[in-house]
Amino acid sequence: MNACGNSGWALSAPVILTSLVCLGVLLLARWVMCQRYFPGRESFIVLHLASLWWMIAASLEIAAQGPECKVFWATMAWPGILATPTFWAVFLWQYVNSVRQPLPLRSTLGLAVVPLLIWLMALSNPWHGLFYGAGTAPLSDEAGSPIRYEHGPLFYIAAVYVYLFMTFCMGVVLRAALVSSGVHRRHYLAFVFVTVVPWGANISYVVFGWMLFGFDPTPFSFTFTLVAFAWLIVGVRLFDLLPVARHLLLDALLDPVLVVDTQLRVIDANPAALKLANLQSGWQGRELVNWPILGADLQQLLSQPVEGEQDRLLTLANSARYFEVRIRAIERVTHRGTLVLGKMLYLRDVTQRRLSELKLAEALALSEERLRTITSLHEQLQEQALCDPLTGLYNRRYLDEFFARELALAQRERSPIALALIDLDHFKQLNDEHGHLEGDDVLKGVAQHLLENLRSSDAVFRIGGEEFLLILPRADACEARSRLESICCDLAAHPLPTRGGARYVTLSAGLAMWPEQGLVLDELLQVADAALYQAKHEGRNRVCSLSQ
Ligand code: GH3
Ligand code: MG
Ligand code: MG
Repeated sequence: MNACGNSGWALSAPVILTSLVCLGVLLLARWVMCQRYFPGRESFIVLHLASLWWMIAASLEIAAQGPECKVFWATMAWPGILATPTFWAVFLWQYVNSVRQPLPLRSTLGLAVVPLLIWLMALSNPWHGLFYGAGTAPLSDEAGSPIRYEHGPLFYIAAVYVYLFMTFCMGVVLRAALVSSGVHRRHYLAFVFVTVVPWGANISYVVFGWMLFGFDPTPFSFTFTLVAFAWLIVGVRLFDLLPVARHLLLDALLDPVLVVDTQLRVIDANPAALKLANLQSGWQGRELVNWPILGADLQQLLSQPVEGEQDRLLTLANSARYFEVRIRAIERVTHRGTLVLGKMLYLRDVTQRRLSELKLAEALALSEERLRTITSLHEQLQEQALCDPLTGLYNRRYLDEFFARELALAQRERSPIALALIDLDHFKQLNDEHGHLEGDDVLKGVAQHLLENLRSSDAVFRIGGEEFLLILPRADACEARSRLESICCDLAAHPLPTRGGARYVTLSAGLAMWPEQGLVLDELLQVADAALYQAKHEGRNRVCSLSQ
């Protein structure tokens, strides 16, 4: 220091320029401090201060006229020289890995140990001469001539330290450029370029002896680096632009979006979500379950297990609104694995669609109901078409279908079928004497009588005015005859109730047997008709069959 006092100072152009650069760096540091936060900002500012230290020492070295004084300032530059790559590395690491916590004090102190030791070694050079060798001397005899340094082993240790950190920096940005893509990759490639500049400056100084203002150009190259980084990070705001754009998008979105942390507290919500919940303030950090209108239902929905990333339907009963909820985990991939930070809930308003669906379902239910009515009416109509309205017995239309079925069964079972054609006796006379309505009552009574005497497999048809056909499957001639005679006798013995009083009526019947007397219905009907004719002829009130 004494040497500096005696040797004097010169305010040359390089000194003024270097001072201006220092002022620029200081202003840059201040500007960065006033900007929006970005990961590693603290280290970035420390990096500014370190390079500032280095350049101030450099400008003092240039300004000083005495060689000892110049060497002294060169020694004083070392904390800056060593802190610059150190905090450069810390900053890049934090920035690239989005580490938002500042470097802990212990780590900062730990990183300061080696630079301090090296500085001490430089300061103690006059005693050991291992940092700058004895050949360290001015380039010329002129006053203020730059010093040509002879580097000792301790200097090279310091250089190795610096290069190790610079290599680390280069590795970090190269890796970031390799693993990222698109606009991010271009951003990191610019980082790589900016990182290369101090390397180039330093190598050109150490290897080729290239100098700026008769001085190591590295600190000045750092100024370029700092400006370039500041512009890339704060000016271009690449990493801020996307979040801001996304935020704007969320703000403009008509669908509610919520972000919850792992304890299901709402950390963020867009205006649509706040509007839905009718909230204005004091919502940040509130538990989802305590959110008005949608909180409880949404929380319940979240607790239900769902396969994959399937959307879930949220029904807000009070406001009759429906939302499709898309849930996405917010994760951070760390070197220890994937860390779940929370969830983003995207509520898509599907009220209109849902109401249309409900209306459609209602309309569908109505149509189904109508279809059921139509089907039942159709069945009724079909029934009516096959049944006689007066007696309720099957009519001629159903006869063919029934007989075909019974015939198939009989053929399979090799069992007989008996057919009996029945005609009421002197019915015309009854009509004439007592009226058509009483005649109708008699017809109903006869139908009832016939039905009462049938087995489950038998069937009776009204095939004409007062003519009936009985089909008795699995009844042979003998059984058929005896059953018909019993029906005939019972009818004759018991009067039928009519509106005009009880009326006696008799019937005549002609029998025909399948397969003996005919194989098809028409043949059998003809045989039965002939037998009936015979019964009439023989005096009525009887059962006849043609001899086989
Ligand atoms: P027969 O003993 O020879 O059979 O004498 P019949 O009087 O019964 O003669 P026929 O079979 O020809 O007469 C049928 C009569 O049945 C004629 C008609 O007045 C009557 N009739 C036909 N359909 C109905 C009906 O639906 N209701 C009533 N009340 N009478 C009917
Ligand atoms: Mg008749
Ligand atoms: Mg008759």
